[in-house]
Amino acid sequence: MTVEPGAIDASAIAVRYRTLVDEVRAVGGERVRIVAVTKTFPPEAIAAVAGAGCAGIGENYAQELVDKWGRFMAGVHDGSVPEVHFIGGLQSNKVRSLAPIVDVWQSVDRESVVAEIARRRPSARILVQVNATGEPDKAGCNPADVESLVLAAATGGLVVEGLMTVGPTDGDPERTRSAFRAVASMAARLGLAELSMGMSGDWRLAVEEGSTLIRVGSAIFGERPPRTA
Ligand SMILES: *Cc1c(COP(=O)(O)O)cnc(C)c1O
Repeated sequence: MTVEPGAIDASAIAVRYRTLVDEVRAVGGERVRIVAVTKTFPPEAIAAVAGAGCAGIGENYAQELVDKWGRFMAGVHDGSVPEVHFIGGLQSNKVRSLAPIVDVWQSVDRESVVAEIARRRPSARILVQVNATGEPDKAGCNPADVESLVLAAATGGLVVEGLMTVGPTDGDPERTRSAFRAVASMAARLGLAELSMGMSGDWRLAVEEGSTLIRVGSAIFGERPPRTA
């Protein structure tokens, strides 16, 4: 049997999600939360993982999320509604349409975005995204700017829960570990509790380095269909 990329098999998703929960617990992440990354998958993927007990989903693209969330909510009757984490590149002009939907803004990396979120969603929960690998094309603020951005967000009334980072694109384990370790020590120094680190390929390393929130897509949903919107 062949499965089309992107076809939704709710029971397979539930099995993979619960397996991941067990694996995370087994490596000592008793308090680690899992954000299931549903980008480019249809609303049924959100329903499937929420039905399996997942309390948070992650999305990267504003228009896709707005469309998908409306379709997902139209199908919710008594099922649970997961928290929505925005994890993609954030432009100020997208904040308005996202504000009614997003619970945790994970990819905040500059003051203009802080100001717009504070305007559209006062006292919103955010994470500051850090580019800890120095890769020029990577999202996230420079490590040297983290403290002032955290301060600006708090001053603007936002609730800064922690830091978020994406490991090096090449996936090199040593570089990945040192990036995660650097971000963990920044969070500790700033007294921030949440650390969003780790994806399908590197969540174990991230949990070892203190991650409290892993963002996992393909290990739960399979290969991502290409973006159409
Ligand atoms: C797509 C994405 C993920 C999930 O990636 P997988 O490798 O499919 O687990 C996590 N975090 C961010 C920021 C992403 O863009």
